[in-house]
Amino acid sequence: MTHTVKYWTTDKPGLLWRGQTSNPKTGNIPTAYVKEELYDAGCKGCPHYGQADNRPEHKRNRSGRRGMTCYAHRGRMRQAAAALNRRAREQPHQYTIDAAMATRLASARYARLTAIGDLAAVHPDEVENALATIRAHGLTPIAYTARWALTAMQYLRGVALASVTTPGSAERAAKRGWKVARTVSAEVFGQAVAAADSIVHADGGLVSARVNVTVQTSAGLLIACPAQVSELRGAPRVSCNDCGLCPAVQGMTTRVGIAFAEHGPTPTGRLWAAVKKAWR
Ligand code: SF4
Repeated sequence: MTHTVKYWTTDKPGLLWRGQTSNPKTGNIPTAYVKEELYDAGCKGCPHYGQADNRPEHKRNRSGRRGMTCYAHRGRMRQAAAALNRRAREQPHQYTIDAAMATRLASARYARLTAIGDLAAVHPDEVENALATIRAHGLTPIAYTARWALTAMQYLRGVALASVTTPGSAERAAKRGWKVARTVSAEVFGQAVAAADSIVHADGGLVSARVNVTVQTSAGLLIACPAQVSELRGAPRVSCNDCGLCPAVQGMTTRVGIAFAEHGPTPTGRLWAAVKKAWR
């Protein structure tokens, strides 16, 4: 595809790849990380990325930015990504998508774009080449972008989920043809899972809860992320590699998306830990 609307800021490679990860949420699947020098370019429009407020509960992160509520840009995730970037500068050939495909587990069914940073900062040719490589190896991409509203990002509609945080943004994204991944409060998520009368045991022992949250958004039915549902309901723990709902909803004709409970090292995210504890 020819890309006439430019948003990306560099023609150099913007993704670092690992063939294996120890992330229990995704399972051990190839995962891409946006290079750290591109975080600002990709993430700056996201409501979770360094909001310009001075609420005291929002401490400064390592880059001095206050109001950062994105879990990926805080704490251990951010530190791990910084270490990965350091290693990649020393041995870049080990952090390509080809290296990731060569070192992935045979059990990997999906590849994730991205664990940190937004694809908006990356040249579309690189993203499309990555998607083609993933598919050529028989894997399915799991992709997200918080920059779905950019004209330059419409090429990922139908592939990536639009990351949204409010009913209004869910509605706007759905109207433009995006399937959404929406964060809801941990309390709402926990209550919805508790109230769901159909905890579905589907293929492969997958535990899923269909949670109708149309009360909160007109953007359609949201399915509670089975990985998070399994965190509430205990073993067996479900990973993205077991699940694959995020890419699967792209093929559904109804307005359906995925609901995630807010999580991470923020005041609202810490509620998720409290909700999980209450279920035990
Ligand atoms: S819905 Fe499934 S594929 Fe999507 S994040 Fe949750 S576990 Fe992963």
